[in-house]
Amino acid sequence: MVKDNNTLQYLVRKAIELGVSDAKIIPAKAVCVEERFARMCESPQCSNYGLSINCPPHVMKTDEFKKSLSQYDYALVFKIDAPTDMLLSEDRRVIARLVHEISATIEKLAIEAGCVNSKGLAAGSCKRIFCEEYVKCKVLEDGSQCLFPDLARPSMSGLGINFNELTKTLGWQFNKITGETNPDDVPMGMLAGMVLIGGREV
Ligand code: SF4
Repeated sequence: MVKDNNTLQYLVRKAIELGVSDAKIIPAKAVCVEERFARMCESPQCSNYGLSINCPPHVMKTDEFKKSLSQYDYALVFKIDAPTDMLLSEDRRVIARLVHEISATIEKLAIEAGCVNSKGLAAGSCKRIFCEEYVKCKVLEDGSQCLFPDLARPSMSGLGINFNELTKTLGWQFNKITGETNPDDVPMGMLAGMVLIGGREV
């Protein structure tokens, strides 16, 4: 059980230093997970479905992920606010890459701080973000190591995280951005990441 509030506050500070718009700590058990969200990757099928070890159907199933949350004490959730125009353009990939990188960095810092059971999650498919020039995800292709183990993290939506509920818990205003969203009506959106934190005894 992580009992050291200083460590949690240190990790929040680090996330802010790395450029997130906000970061908050909630109990891991407050993360709402529902299968219908993981199924959205499949139908209507996301263009990245099945292309990486970090996306469905290769990630942990929703039930398994829900059970695994009991291994963690807290979730550090962070967001990067961005103009809707950017999120609807190729720039989305740049922001998503940053979310993966920050998640991986906070995971590393948490482990170094003694929270040895910590796990970063991110937004979007790592295949499109990091490995677009490769035909196949290296892990799926021949079982070898991920080409970007210090950067790429599993997709939050692929695990079934209910982002709408999560933002309500955090007190963040969430505007869902889709291809039909008019930036004049909804000028800002966000991409988010999460680090599940556990393992420190003090
Ligand atoms: S090799 Fe590329 S596509 Fe596969 S898990 Fe790593 S970053 Fe993702």
